[in-house]
Amino acid sequence: MTLPTTRAVLAPLILLAIAIALPFVAPTYYVQFASKALIMGILAMSLNLVVGFGGLVSLCHAAFFGIAGYALALLSPKYDPASFWLTFPVAVAASALAALLIGALALRTRGIYFIMVTLAFGEMLFFLFHDSKFAGGSDGAFIYNKPSLAIGSFTASWLNLEKPQIFYFFILVILVAVIALLTMIVRSPFGHALAASRDNERRARALGFPIFRLQLTAFTLSGAIAGVAGYFAAAQFGFVAPQMLGWHVSATVLVMVLIGGLRSVAGPLVGALVLIGLEEVLKASTEYWKLAEGLIIIAIVLMLPNGVRQLLAMVLPDRDSSGAHQARHGLSLRAEQSNPDSKDDGPNNPALRAVGLHKHFGGLAAVSDVSLDVREGEIHAVIGPNGAGKSTLVNLLSGDLFLNDGEIGLGGHDITKLKADRRALAGLGRSYQKTTIFPQFTAQENVRLAAQAHANSPLKMSGDIYSDTETAQRTQDALHKAGLAERANLVAANLSHGEQRQLEIAMVLATQPRVILLDEPLAGMGQAEARHMVDLIASLKQGRAVLVIEHDMDAVFELADRLTVMADGHVIASGAPQDVRNDPAVKLAYLGDGDAS
Ligand code: ADP
Ligand code: MG
Repeated sequence: MTLPTTRAVLAPLILLAIAIALPFVAPTYYVQFASKALIMGILAMSLNLVVGFGGLVSLCHAAFFGIAGYALALLSPKYDPASFWLTFPVAVAASALAALLIGALALRTRGIYFIMVTLAFGEMLFFLFHDSKFAGGSDGAFIYNKPSLAIGSFTASWLNLEKPQIFYFFILVILVAVIALLTMIVRSPFGHALAASRDNERRARALGFPIFRLQLTAFTLSGAIAGVAGYFAAAQFGFVAPQMLGWHVSATVLVMVLIGGLRSVAGPLVGALVLIGLEEVLKASTEYWKLAEGLIIIAIVLMLPNGVRQLLAMVLPDRDSSGAHQARHGLSLRAEQSNPDSKDDGPNNPALRAVGLHKHFGGLAAVSDVSLDVREGEIHAVIGPNGAGKSTLVNLLSGDLFLNDGEIGLGGHDITKLKADRRALAGLGRSYQKTTIFPQFTAQENVRLAAQAHANSPLKMSGDIYSDTETAQRTQDALHKAGLAERANLVAANLSHGEQRQLEIAMVLATQPRVILLDEPLAGMGQAEARHMVDLIASLKQGRAVLVIEHDMDAVFELADRLTVMADGHVIASGAPQDVRNDPAVKLAYLGDGDAS
């Protein structure tokens, strides 16, 4: 299918060859040391699934690491080895469960609060084990034997984990499996949706992605993999102590992730190897090794903001540009536009109906008793001075804000209680007053994410995101319709302002909505761009209902089939544009005397 690039193939192969050769040439001490480094690499990679790919900085990963270690200690008989096949799944499940519970609470917060909440949970678990009687308290607990790989009576000397070389090879196998698993997830629809939620959570939700479920799944999975690392760390050292769960370990692993680079699966592994190797060298050479280590870490992070992996990229340049990558997956353009399914609604039934909407911000009634409807095949414009409550109205309709009172129906169904992502899946698409896209993705990837949110299994954890031909086709159609086919492979942040506005509409189109809400689509556009956008908006009403908020009166009177005027949160007039234009109340409140002839 695709030709892998030089760096993508060569570097891992060289590293793997070195890793396999190591036990044959190195003394046992170094083999044990390498096992420890690989285990920390697994821990760092697990953390990076939430930090690098999910944008969630967790400071409690040591807890998941420690819980699996303690599970092994508690499950190990004193004089016999524990069975790997029994203890491993239990230990990993215990870590996953802890991550699920902590994630379910912590993921209700964002940013610095999320960091603090995870830190607090981590410390709670640290003290739970520290003050416990059942697991040795602050002294910790011993594991006298390495787990046994024997199945029933079957056993073999090459399966004996007591031998450091065999233990090392076993860790290597687990490591490769973890890399394969994480690579699959990161490349899957799930991984792309996760990255999209990191890039722009509000937009991801407005497209229909269930953000909480997405992040909680990633957090739980990440906790489980941290448990894998913790299980083997405990097995290797033959000892667990509360410190294993402490914030110091969490912070160290975070440093490994930062050194290794946030945007790759194996980067944190490299970060772990660098940090652990560095510690070993410095400890042997200076009494002030902590100080030296700190300075070197700061230097690495400053000089290589994308991690040490950046060094590798300099040594072995990668000739594959992401543009070429996109082009490989691009499909031929097809001009016709697939219309949304609109069997249920006759042209005169309202596709969207709002009744008696109220929204207060403290004492301010931003939207007050607003009722309106939008029918399929029409453009309904809402105008009004700044602060009239227009954006608040759109946010109420889309579910970005919750109502204080009122009801909203979509295609005859009550959606008042649905969250934004459910409303999007029910057929409501929107653009924002301030452009809301995924700036780090290409235009095509932006639109494909939108199409993916409405595909059959949008959060599948396996498979190629480009393999769904229907999603690919919808992506191309929407790009073409919005006039962006030529710009598809540019990173969205590099598009002009007008193109970014077009891109937002392309994303809305790719979700095949029956109702489209546009909040000031012409804002900040030059004349030519605005002309293009007006034509685009005019074309949207075919088979759909469109609500547009706009300040540009020429555009409004060109586009609108119906017009509603708001002031101070109230509707002051509504009807055919010509009637509204001549309404004395509107002249007075909004259009001004001179403007309204
Ligand atoms: P418009 O889009 O018509 O310019 P908005 O809907 O943005 O008006 O704002 C309506 C009123 O509500 C304004 O007075 C604004 O300051 C206020 N407002 C909007 N959003 C919020 C918010 N999140 N918190 C507090 N006040 C808000
Ligand atoms: Mg506004």
